[in-house]
Amino acid sequence: MERPPLRFEKSRGRTEVEIRRRILQAIFEQRLPPGEKITEEQLATTFDVSRTVVRQAMARLAQDGILVKSPNIGSAIAAPSRKEARDILAVRRMVEPDIVRILANAPAREEVIARLNRHLALEDEARNSRNRGLQVRLSGEFHLLLAELAGNRILVRLMNQLQALTCLAILLYAGGDEACLPDEHSRIASAIAAGDRAAAEKEMLHHLHHVEKDMNLDRGPDTAGFTEAIEWLRGHSGHGVEG
Ligand SMILES: [Zn+2]
Repeated sequence: MERPPLRFEKSRGRTEVEIRRRILQAIFEQRLPPGEKITEEQLATTFDVSRTVVRQAMARLAQDGILVKSPNIGSAIAAPSRKEARDILAVRRMVEPDIVRILANAPAREEVIARLNRHLALEDEARNSRNRGLQVRLSGEFHLLLAELAGNRILVRLMNQLQALTCLAILLYAGGDEACLPDEHSRIASAIAAGDRAAAEKEMLHHLHHVEKDMNLDRGPDTAGFTEAIEWLRGHSGHGVEG
């Protein structure tokens, strides 16, 4: 699959948080595919920051399972296995219906509805202008916005992690070309606007079911190519060609 080269805007004084955010955005836009190698040096040059700052950002991404570290190979973007992808979706089914239920019951719902409508308008705009990368990123960010509007920072962090891993699994198993269905997002937003908690929950579950179904997780082995290849290389390090 052809993809645009990875470019980050160069600017001095970026913080660890900002670097992490940009890397997550690149994953959401499908510019950083699963298994892609990342080095401290490359990121330090790209962002024009010290390697200490880069190391902090990478450590946190590794903690969240988004970067995979290996002593011989270095750091690479995670490649979730089919089993991991099913587990990620299972957690999303536990968490996200509750998020929309909270929002449908929120006291200041006008603000929530306004923010959701602005986001849905951006999704429409990206779709109409055929900006594929932006469209995929915005469709993922719809889910992050829901967590943010619920006002729980732990949830926001968890959803960032789950959304990034979902994007990577989609690239691996759904042919790399799927975004959330736009009408399903607006149905979720409408149920929240109507204050209908049961409908909001139902629409979210229905939507997550679609996301999982499009990934064809029942086909093929449970392993992902890249992670398994690294394990294999580790296990076979003594049997290679000498010298
Ligand atoms: Zn969605």
